[in-house]
Amino acid sequence: MEKILEGLIQKNRHLIQKGHVANYIPALSKVNPNYIGLAIADVDGHIYCAGDYNIKFSIQSISKIISLMLALIDNGEDYVFSKVGYEPTDEPFNTLYKLDLNSCNPANPMINSGAIITTSLIRGNKDEKFDRIIEFIRLITENPNIGYNEEVYLSEKATGHKNRAIAYLMKAKGYLDGEVEDILDVYFKQCSVEVTAVDVAKIGLFIARRCPLNLDSKINNERLASIVTAIITTCGMYDFSGEYAAKVGIPSKSGVGGGILGTIPNKLGIGVFSPALDRFGNSIAGYGIMKDLARELNLNIF
Ligand code: GLN
Repeated sequence: MEKILEGLIQKNRHLIQKGHVANYIPALSKVNPNYIGLAIADVDGHIYCAGDYNIKFSIQSISKIISLMLALIDNGEDYVFSKVGYEPTDEPFNTLYKLDLNSCNPANPMINSGAIITTSLIRGNKDEKFDRIIEFIRLITENPNIGYNEEVYLSEKATGHKNRAIAYLMKAKGYLDGEVEDILDVYFKQCSVEVTAVDVAKIGLFIARRCPLNLDSKINNERLASIVTAIITTCGMYDFSGEYAAKVGIPSKSGVGGGILGTIPNKLGIGVFSPALDRFGNSIAGYGIMKDLARELNLNIF
């Protein structure tokens, strides 16, 4: 298996030249674009890795899965989806303008506006919200050492004007409850949490195993897994989600740190990391690897 994964890395490495690391968050522009790592964690407890699977990177939008899960655990499905839609969108992840139209909630929890809402719905004040996010990530990755990158957090906090505009617009429209700056602070911090491809594969595995949790929760575990898998399939790769589903067929979520999480129900979780991005903000070599992996291991769920 490791040999196959290594081969996929070599085959797709050339794609890095066609992409660019995110530079709208200054701290991310310093990341070495040449990293490529891949990890698979299966339900039998095997972990297969290749390349730079041990390098830490910022989780960015993959954290939107975590805030969606915690919002659902704390509030249940009906309440969460009265605040945010289930629908994909052909707009980029940081879109803003439709929020200013009449009664237009965020389309889904995987674009920034929707994720700012789910973060706001997590129980507790700003420190408690973030503590729950990080503890939840540590729990499902079985990695107590996970923390956040202070430089990335401060960099995004200092330059996240578009997210600030999105949040204040939602506040003005009555979509967002709570203190806007506190919610943004949690959102920026959750995006700066540092993970490896192995950690991401383990989050994917947790969803694949139908979220085995023993928590006080307003949603049952099977339903939680089902919603998250459906929403990332339709919305996880932003305005590329349709083509990605057709060509790859693995429920996936990307982040501008270069990570892609994949999850195959009842089978396995995948973590890919390569920081050069395409125009949608998805890892360009990561996409190539996922496409080949789906073919090689027969993972296309469609
Ligand atoms: N922190 C990033 C932002 O809000 C997350 C976006 C992403 O990963 N697509 O812009």
